[in-house]
Amino acid sequence: MARDYYQILGVRRDATQEEIKKAYRRLARELHPDVNPDPETQDRFKEVTQAYEVLSDESKRKMFDMGADPFAPSGGGGGGAGGFGAAGFPFDDIMNAFFGGGAGGGRRPGDRVRRGRSIKVRVELDLSETAFGVTKDVTFPTAVLCDTCQGEGTAKGSKRHTCDMCQGRGEVSQVTRSFLGQVMTTRPCPQCSGEGSVITNPCADCAGEGRVREKVTRKVQIPAGVEDGTQIQLAGEGEVGPNGGPRGDIFLEIVQRPHPVFERRGDDLHCTVTVPMTAAALGASLTIETLDGNEEVDLRPGTSSGHVVTLEGRGCTHLDGGGRGDMRIQVNVETPSKLDEEQESLLRKFAELRGEDHPPGKFSPGHGNFFTRLRDAFGTK
Ligand SMILES: [Zn+2]
Ligand SMILES: [Zn+2]
Repeated sequence: MARDYYQILGVRRDATQEEIKKAYRRLARELHPDVNPDPETQDRFKEVTQAYEVLSDESKRKMFDMGADPFAPSGGGGGGAGGFGAAGFPFDDIMNAFFGGGAGGGRRPGDRVRRGRSIKVRVELDLSETAFGVTKDVTFPTAVLCDTCQGEGTAKGSKRHTCDMCQGRGEVSQVTRSFLGQVMTTRPCPQCSGEGSVITNPCADCAGEGRVREKVTRKVQIPAGVEDGTQIQLAGEGEVGPNGGPRGDIFLEIVQRPHPVFERRGDDLHCTVTVPMTAAALGASLTIETLDGNEEVDLRPGTSSGHVVTLEGRGCTHLDGGGRGDMRIQVNVETPSKLDEEQESLLRKFAELRGEDHPPGKFSPGHGNFFTRLRDAFGTK
């Protein structure tokens, strides 16, 4: 059965956030388990808190207004998100709901060993390096274990001491009176930052952090077939965590330098060669630069501009292994623009022989054959 969160909080459907907060505050004061622990009241409190969580969150409220229930057991939208599980409602959550996380999260001692950050390292590669793979030296700043104290953070011969403010618990509690009655708040110990112990005599080399910053150079293996934007994860090779915590990851981000001749599309390489009109008409043998060295390509007689010659398997290696893309060479036929007298007369003679020596009549738009081709060039039918 669908619950009506508006009804549960006792507010109108067009209630403002202020009204919703006020209504919840009033109900929470009556129903909070610290005040009123009987099971029935707690169920009601749970319901009220869910209603508040939905209606105080604009996106969840919108979802609910559209007929979806973020807390429905089978509902879409990931029921039970955000702190309000089935296991009751710690005071912190309510404080968070009102004050945005003011009450702290109750860290346990031992949290002081934390995982290090991950690092992103950009690796610039030439086309042939991405096509075939390469081993590279990359240099980047990172945090490494402090050699002097081996991550302990303490000076030689000294130890960490139990924090006297929290007696090693890592958190301190305080009883206060509030609108909910008498409640106990718990927050991380300010003296030891929740770690439970303090360093009185820190290692001089790392100032007690257990790690030092360093620039390191590392050999990395780039597989064949990577392209611009590919990320390669090197798990557990990032920064060492504070107090000797486990290392984060390295993410290599591939940046492919543009190639002067080839444009890469997927694993295919594209390029253009310009040939003189005569070579296109008579056929020619061209020497084409590829990533594998020069290659002879035969241009058949009568090649037109726009013709594409495909060299199979001359593209980049497929990243998933197995095979390579192709190289596609587009032929661009160059029409001579400056003719000397002899060349011009030869071309006129050539035109005459082909019956193409009266262009105005032959190529007027009225000429069916020419007009059809012109329209084809513009993609109409
Ligand atoms: Zn140290
Ligand atoms: Zn402490």
